[in-house]
Amino acid sequence: MDPIIRIAGLTKIYDSGHQALKPVDLEIGRGEIFALLGPNGAGKTTLISIICGIVRPTSGSVIVDGHDIISSYRESRRAIGLVPQELTTDQFETVWDTVSFSRGLFGKARNPAHIERTLKQLSLWDKRDTKIKELSGGMKRRVMIAKALSHEPRILFLDEPTAGVDVELRRSMWDMVRELREQGVTIILTTHYIEEAEEMADRVGVISRGDLILVEEKSALMAKLGKRELALTLAEPLAAIPPELADWQLELKGEGNQLVYTFDANAERTGIASLIRRLTDLGIGFKDLATRESSLEDIFVNLVHQGRAA
Ligand code: ATP
Repeated sequence: MDPIIRIAGLTKIYDSGHQALKPVDLEIGRGEIFALLGPNGAGKTTLISIICGIVRPTSGSVIVDGHDIISSYRESRRAIGLVPQELTTDQFETVWDTVSFSRGLFGKARNPAHIERTLKQLSLWDKRDTKIKELSGGMKRRVMIAKALSHEPRILFLDEPTAGVDVELRRSMWDMVRELREQGVTIILTTHYIEEAEEMADRVGVISRGDLILVEEKSALMAKLGKRELALTLAEPLAAIPPELADWQLELKGEGNQLVYTFDANAERTGIASLIRRLTDLGIGFKDLATRESSLEDIFVNLVHQGRAA
């Protein structure tokens, strides 16, 4: 791997005494899409903010495209575009002005052709003369991305890019991220959603309580995370699970009204079809059937537990 970011022994203890990052070692490869997956308060924003020079680390080092984030702050920051979680832009400016102004902040010469390309790529070209306050929430988010790309950074950070956006916009963001990668931009995104990491990332890092508990190729991680649950709401409650169903290791929940089967979504045979056949043979009827992903919470519990056991 040719790392564009090297993080070594990075920690953060806030003034409150809260340790937001335990020592983190991580390298991000040039041109990859890296997803940082973790629940609220895990330390994702802290990690990104340190790399972008917004928060000072307590110890450790970060080198961005060959530049130390503290001793060569300007050079390292120039390599980075950051799309923060919150919208931070002047509501009364036009799209064109706000994006052009951002470029100027990095000391880059004007390049209207680049701004035009970026706005077109983000479907904002028609809105270039519109004031930010007149845009929809989804458009405002795209303006934030255009601002972050205005100075042609080699690395783009997206902090929760699709939190609270609708399915269509989420898909178009994913497409855009892929296009950027094809242009050679390295992308690091934080997310709560396994689905997003699955769709987008080449590699995934899982962070929990300031601890980067694992970093893996997506395919390897998905095999670990690919557990799903099938919940069957029964027509009549059962007092106990019949011995004929022992092969499936089912759980009986909700006062005997619900049978829950946990299966590996990546397996060639999930066992669902045979379970349903057996239920029919036994005359056990059901009114409803639903599957869901194991929650991130369950996965963290498992991963952290495995980490302790190892
Ligand atoms: P979310 O998904 O909710 O954005 P996150 O993974 O980005 O969460 P951080 O924002 O990095 O998490 O926060 C990590 C921990 O550090 C949290 O417990 C948070 O309360 C704490 N924290 C963040 N900023 C500060 C601060 N300025 N002072 C003290 N504690 C802070």
